[in-house]
Amino acid sequence: MDRLTFNGVELPVRILETGNRNAYARIRDMEVIISVPRRIKGEKRDDVVSKLSESLKRSLERSPGKMLGFSRERFRDGQELAAPGLSLKLSISQCGKRFSSSVREGVLAIWVPESERMDGSKASSYMHMAVSRAFLPSVSAYVERLNAERFGSRLGRVRIGRGMTTLGSCDSFNNITLNSRLFAMGPYALEYVAVHELAHTRFHNHSKRFWGEVERALPDYRERKVWIFREGWRLEA
Ligand SMILES: [Zn+2]
Repeated sequence: MDRLTFNGVELPVRILETGNRNAYARIRDMEVIISVPRRIKGEKRDDVVSKLSESLKRSLERSPGKMLGFSRERFRDGQELAAPGLSLKLSISQCGKRFSSSVREGVLAIWVPESERMDGSKASSYMHMAVSRAFLPSVSAYVERLNAERFGSRLGRVRIGRGMTTLGSCDSFNNITLNSRLFAMGPYALEYVAVHELAHTRFHNHSKRFWGEVERALPDYRERKVWIFREGWRLEA
């Protein structure tokens, strides 16, 4: 086996023989690396490789961002962010004594106090909060409209999440959370994730019927999924 297919994307697989005791699989630079102890040979080795590939696939489905090793999103000055119906350019600067932000004419201005480090955790939490607050009204209106037009489910709240290892989630009360990283990826990705989570309001699993529901609402969903996997997660938000 020299390929692992996940979400319609083929990742090359490289098998390394090592002097280690245990076999393990990881992903580096979009390549799957499976390390197998030298002492394991033949059929047993094939068996170990296929078991590790299967469990890697499951981890990828659960938390692609974590598996692919992408860092927590960090917003930066001049960055363009967009969701359906709203584009904002970030203007981040340091001045004064307290955090503040404002949205005007397509610019989300964020001021970090002089006493704070721009790359510190307080500044990054504040930036995330300001971005979420700016986008939340239009994003939740978009999700609610999509729901009314194509799903008709009873929805909980729409939230923007931070530091998630998935792009979205839908809990059993139909509260939908979208990863703030999606604003850096843009509407193409966000629409897919919104449809995916809304389809979970019908089926809380990834069954065939679930994917049928996604396809009905967004016929080109496969291409979008592949784009997100290949390009979207690579973007430093
Ligand atoms: Zn899902």
